[in-house]
Amino acid sequence: MHAVGIVAAAGSGLRLGADRPKALVPLAGRPLVSWSVDTLRSSGVAEVVVAVPGGELAAFAAVLPPDVRLVVGGATRTASVRAALAGAGEHADAVLVHDAARPLTPPDVVTRVLAALADGVPAVVPVLPVVDTTVRVDDDGVVTGALPRETLRRVQTPQGFARAVLLDAYDRLPDGVELTDDAAVVRAAGVPVTTVAGDERSAKVTVPHDLALAEMQIRR
Ligand code: C5P
Repeated sequence: MHAVGIVAAAGSGLRLGADRPKALVPLAGRPLVSWSVDTLRSSGVAEVVVAVPGGELAAFAAVLPPDVRLVVGGATRTASVRAALAGAGEHADAVLVHDAARPLTPPDVVTRVLAALADGVPAVVPVLPVVDTTVRVDDDGVVTGALPRETLRRVQTPQGFARAVLLDAYDRLPDGVELTDDAAVVRAAGVPVTTVAGDERSAKVTVPHDLALAEMQIRR
C-alpha cells in the first residue's frame, strides 16, 4: 500500500499566543511541523504535502526537507486539507491526514492506522476514551443533561482513508461547510469510520499549557 501524508499546518496559533504560525512554534528547538512531518516519514509515509498559511511558504521551506511539498492552505482546516488533497499523491492508494499541532504522536499510532487501511477499511481514526463526566449546557452555562461517556471517544490524527473515498467525500462536501476533521467529511458522504487506539502523547497543542506538557514529555 502506498500512502501519502497531508499535514494541516495553516492554523494561526492565536490561542497559543504565538508571534508566528502555530506550526512554526518551536518545541525543544524544532518547529511543531517538523516533528509532525517526521512522525509520518519515520512510519513509512514517504510522500508528504503540508498546507501552510498564505505568505509563509518561504518560512516553512526553510525548516522542512526539500522533498516535502508545500501548498497554501485556506481560512479553515477543511479548506486547507481540500487544497492539499488537490495536489497529493496521484499514485497513492491511501491518504493519512495529520495535524501539525500533534508533534509527539508515537509511530505506533501511525502503524495502527496503516494496518487498518491495509485490512481494507475505507476510513479509520485513532481515538481515546472520555474519562470526565461530559455534559450539555444552555446559553447561560446551566447543565441541561449528561452524555453517556462510555459511548464517547476523543478523536485524534493521523486519520487514514482510501484515497478515492476521501477525494469523493471532499468533492461532495458543499462549499462553505466547515468540519473539524476529515472523518466528519467522509461520514457526511455516508462512509463508515473505523477506530483504532490513539495515544495520550498524541495530544493537540492548542494553548500554552499544552506546549509546556509537550516539553516535559520530551525531557522524560
Ligand atoms: O484549530 P485546530 O486546533 O482545530 O487545528 C488543527 C490543525 O489544523 C492544526 O494543525 C492547524 O494548523 C490546522 N489548520 C489548518 N488550516 C486552518 C486552520 C487550522 O491547516 N485554516
